Amino acid sequence: SAKRVGRNNFTIYSPGLDEHANEFLRLEIRLKQALQSNGLMLFYQPIMDVQSGHLAGVEALVRLRDENGQLRSPNDFIPIAESAGLINQLGEWVAAEACRQHERWREAGLPPLSISINISSSQFRQRTFASHLAEAIDRYGIDPACLQVEITESAVMDNLPAAIAALNEIRSTGIRIALDDFGTGYSSLNYLSSLPLDKLKIDQSFIKKIVSHRPSRSITDAILALGRSLNLKVVGEGIESEQAMDYLREHGCDQAQGYLFSHPLPPKDFEAWYWNRARQ
Ligand code: C2E
Ligand code: CA
Ligand code: CA
Ligand code: CA
Repeated sequence: SAKRVGRNNFTIYSPGLDEHANEFLRLEIRLKQALQSNGLMLFYQPIMDVQSGHLAGVEALVRLRDENGQLRSPNDFIPIAESAGLINQLGEWVAAEACRQHERWREAGLPPLSISINISSSQFRQRTFASHLAEAIDRYGIDPACLQVEITESAVMDNLPAAIAALNEIRSTGIRIALDDFGTGYSSLNYLSSLPLDKLKIDQSFIKKIVSHRPSRSITDAILALGRSLNLKVVGEGIESEQAMDYLREHGCDQAQGYLFSHPLPPKDFEAWYWNRARQ
């Protein structure tokens, strides 16, 4: 280790950095194993229709089981998947697993739910991405309108012409597209009308402060107005309080998602949540 070799030569390596590198490597190794051996899971978070209060769909959120059996958040391992060249493989697994789950739920008697999956920028720049999605849909006999992809505003802004081409290809298969974390990506508004979109998801940072912070309300209002004029559905996410929900309802937001309704759940728990609500 750096300590044994001597302080003078390696003063730059603090224990903190060392640990960080170790953690990174361990997760990379773990991720490779997980991709081979069912170590990844999808959790599902309900998305509610604001006006009716009914379930509108679910968002699939990936989890990694680490070597201690702990579930790790994608914020810990998606960046590693990207830098280790594993993101495409991970993305294909996510798409296939979401479609498989859709089929299982239909067999369990649930109505055909709309499932959203997240894709990262490197993944959707990959040329074969749209055809992989179409394949997964075919294999499990899913109505393409039941599948949505969520791509962040900043990923789209990275390379706008390439993004427009990729999104057009995805959308031509009937899959819907949501722009995630909207309001944080430094976009000019005139590009929005040239993107093939179905939904805007207001970034959580605005929703968090919607009660306490006037500028966050103004930004939320502007996004809602923009959505209306471009004929896009608008989703508020990160909703934790009734007050935030009231605000969105009164201001014409279409859909809502957050801990107020449910945390992301493993498939069985989501099913229980679903039947429990249906009984009420
Ligand atoms: P995101 O797409 O913006 O997903 C929303 C995140 O907010 C999720 O975190 C969710 O658990 C969390 N969340 C939902 N409601 C609330 C709430 O009321 N309060 C708070 N504080 N948080 C809430 P998660 O599951 O840790 O995912 C983090 C990010 O990782 C996602 O952000 C998404 O960008 C990325 N991600 C998740 N799954 C995938 C995937 O399959 N592929 C790729 N490429 N990225 C993924
Ligand atoms: Ca998302
Ligand atoms: Ca988001
Ligand atoms: Ca995010």
